[in-house]
Amino acid sequence: MLFEKIAVLQADGTYLKDQYVGVRDSRIAWLSDKAPAEDFGERIDGTNRLLIPGLVNAHTHVAMTLMRGYGEELPLQSWLFDRIFPFEDKLFPEAVYWGSMLGMAEMLATGTVSFTDMYYFCDETAKAALECGIKANIGRGISCFDPTKRFKDLPAYAELKDLLATYHGAGEGRVLIDVAPHAEYTTRPDILEDAAAMAGEYGVRMQMHVSETQSEHLDCVARHGMTPTALLEKTGMLAHPLTVAHGVWLTDDDMDRLARHGAVVAHCAKSNLKLGSGIAQTTKLLNKGVSVAIGTDSAASNNALDMLDEMKVAGLLAKGVTCDPSAFSAATVLHCGTRAGALSQGRQDAGDIAEGFRADLVMLDLNSTPFCPSHAPLSNLLYASGSSTVKMTMVDGRVLYNNGEFLTLDIERVRFETQRCTNTILNN
Ligand SMILES: [Zn+2]
Repeated sequence: MLFEKIAVLQADGTYLKDQYVGVRDSRIAWLSDKAPAEDFGERIDGTNRLLIPGLVNAHTHVAMTLMRGYGEELPLQSWLFDRIFPFEDKLFPEAVYWGSMLGMAEMLATGTVSFTDMYYFCDETAKAALECGIKANIGRGISCFDPTKRFKDLPAYAELKDLLATYHGAGEGRVLIDVAPHAEYTTRPDILEDAAAMAGEYGVRMQMHVSETQSEHLDCVARHGMTPTALLEKTGMLAHPLTVAHGVWLTDDDMDRLARHGAVVAHCAKSNLKLGSGIAQTTKLLNKGVSVAIGTDSAASNNALDMLDEMKVAGLLAKGVTCDPSAFSAATVLHCGTRAGALSQGRQDAGDIAEGFRADLVMLDLNSTPFCPSHAPLSNLLYASGSSTVKMTMVDGRVLYNNGEFLTLDIERVRFETQRCTNTILNN
């Protein structure tokens, strides 16, 4: 496929006009203001179109679309223990499959090509991802409330081993499996130690909720005499590639620790705002050299899985809380939502538009009101248009969403089955 005379925004905010972008197999094989001599097959007229790197949702629980709007205006602990956990007790594999598929459809239609997930019945989410063609780093959430059980006694351990054997690297590497302890308050230090050792043994990445709320952060200090991040260091978790979800209440020392070990913070601005958890200090994290990616968290807390919406909120928040309009520049926000997200998933060759990179591309309509006039196309994208102008989403060179049509899933059926599964759970 060859995009002709198309505008391109690269991950660092560089804007290039009238480009030729050639896709061969799963990769970008040509990027130039000159037409290639070789034939790339189908030609796409890029007039009044903009190509951006596919967005990477660095933290979500995709099947929780089933609980969109089910626990509203509650603090995190009550939201979890009174609404979400009782609903999740009645989950069944098929519900997770359809809820995952609905979330994937929502992400594809809003320009997301890859997501990092933590949940249960992960083989259902992996199956759905392979079927619809989106990329995913999937982690079976590890929690333990029984003091007599060690990591290897947990169902999560056995499931994780199966997932690693069956799905790690499946779909030409589109699906990867992470080791995913849920949080400090749902595990124990010895569980974290064993989980970290397993990540090292398999050479895979880790993800965990860290310092999402103030009470969680302070309870950990009371329990262990140290912050959750200090506990991560002590238990060996920081010795492996780790995505820290939220990081709202990180101390300066915590941030230095994360920077030293190269951990990534997945910033989930909307979920933190909506659950009243607080506001992560993105500018301080970036200044301290911590890599920041962007995630939506689940549709139960967000309530959308729309990364452009999330990036807008992240940018606005940083400017507002620092009283500095230059804070978290649009170019930095774009980088966090694309390249930094891909790197947080261990995908070195993804998250940008350059020759040799994976062809994870999103095409937007510049012939639309939010892009007129075009003094600042990137600002138009983040602060005026949002996902309303997404025309096409391509993953590994394959078009999955085009002009409102999903090419790898039946959206009517996905909506019907998701509602049916939700009714089954509520009537149970
Ligand atoms: Zn989460």
